[in-house]
Amino acid sequence: MEAKSSEVSTPFLSSRDKHHFIDGKWRPSVSGESIETFNPATGQVLATLARGRKEDVDLAVSAARRAFEGPWSRFTPHQRYMLMLKVADVLEANFEELATLESLDMGAPFSRTKAMKNGVLQTVKYFAAQALNYTGTTIPNSLPGNYTTLTLKAPIGVVGSIIPWNGPMISMWWTMGGTLATGCTTVIKTAEDASLTALRTAELLMDAGVPPGVVNIVTGYGAEAGAALASHMDVDRIAFTGSTATGREIIKASASNMKRVQVELGGKSPDIIFADADLEKAVPGAAMGVYHNTGQICSAGTRVFVQRSIQEEFVARMVEFTKKIKVGDPFDPATQLGPVVSKKQMERVLDYMTIGSDEGARLVAGGNRLGGGLSEGYFVEPTVFNQVTNDMRIAREEIFGPVASVIPFDTVDEALALANDTIYGLGGAVWTSNVATMLKSIHGLKAGKLWVNCYGLADPAVGFSGFKQSGYGVKGGRDHIESFLYEKSVCINGD
Ligand code: ADP
Repeated sequence: MEAKSSEVSTPFLSSRDKHHFIDGKWRPSVSGESIETFNPATGQVLATLARGRKEDVDLAVSAARRAFEGPWSRFTPHQRYMLMLKVADVLEANFEELATLESLDMGAPFSRTKAMKNGVLQTVKYFAAQALNYTGTTIPNSLPGNYTTLTLKAPIGVVGSIIPWNGPMISMWWTMGGTLATGCTTVIKTAEDASLTALRTAELLMDAGVPPGVVNIVTGYGAEAGAALASHMDVDRIAFTGSTATGREIIKASASNMKRVQVELGGKSPDIIFADADLEKAVPGAAMGVYHNTGQICSAGTRVFVQRSIQEEFVARMVEFTKKIKVGDPFDPATQLGPVVSKKQMERVLDYMTIGSDEGARLVAGGNRLGGGLSEGYFVEPTVFNQVTNDMRIAREEIFGPVASVIPFDTVDEALALANDTIYGLGGAVWTSNVATMLKSIHGLKAGKLWVNCYGLADPAVGFSGFKQSGYGVKGGRDHIESFLYEKSVCINGD
């Protein structure tokens, strides 16, 4: 039987207005204003959220500062580690609800959000382990006398985080993980299109025993609440995931008090298919490298470079694969792709479908909004353009929808030159059975995360960072924790 988004709810969703979560309590906006968030599968209002402005951000940052200086500062690494394991247990017990909220809010299939359980819990536990694993150093010195020199690591303080709507359930852990592991505190500004999972998670953290004020959530618009957080004088670090244009604003705003910055921004990642690739794997792999999460992933492999000798066969198979994909209601178990997140985003994606045809690319699959029973929601067809050239707008600009641009090439050198001819440097992949081609490609591609004969896999232990206008600052891996710490070098006179 088909389930429908319009019939799904959770006690959290139906219980009350959604306020900011500050100092362990729900607080309406100081101004009393609110904003609406929509269910992308139905186009209907899903919830009313508080409209955060500077004065709300001020309250949240004050709460975070008090918590940072308060009893939380006396938690030992082992206590923080144990607390995070408890958090993982509480998340696990409530995961179905979190997955439901995520699917209702941003449209990903429920089968997929439910299946994210292992990834989210692994991420929380990975960061938990890091609470026990960072160290300073002792350094031999050549000073005249009896001096000992060493470095100490200390938590940086209040961490601001501005998260996107395309996967809030996992995105927030890239900040909260390091925050809890190191004894920092945080204020998270959720995306106006998808705030519910983060709000419910913050409440669950209290159930697990996280002290009030350690994690605070402010909802609202980017230009209001987001900008206030990025420029705040009492925020010590800001982490941002979103568009390159907004990332540039965040970096400028961070200059107010020289806060540390980590930004993961846009991409137009190349996915290169050589003639010797195993097409049984490369066709679905490259297609889902574009369509996964309805194309709303910054490292999506949207420029599909195909060696000319296999172009015809590859495109025919990709079109066949694309036409079989089931786009539908997120709560229908058969659905592979849900709607895009908002009307604005749908219009943007549809615009690019027109732009591609106008530029002379050949539309070979998709290209339309979906009608029928889906006409109230923001559903678009997965789309393939063939005979794209790398100078077309659909090959240069981030679309953030399920739109693949197939670009032919002849040689490895040509493929790499085209792949690197972009302002972005987030992801990239190569499909080949030839070791020399693979090695040349991974050395030649200018991007922060690469895949070989696969696409899009991620693990919290494997850190990555953008390159060029895709941003900077490591997420995940051993160095990630360092960005929540600052180092003091100490010189001790032993006489
Ligand atoms: P999109 O346009 O795809 O939503 P953005 O990069 O604008 O991508 O949004 C990502 C996050 O950044 C959201 O939480 C949004 O509210 C926030 N944001 C948008 N503009 C600003 C800004 N000027 N300052 C701070 N945050 C912002």
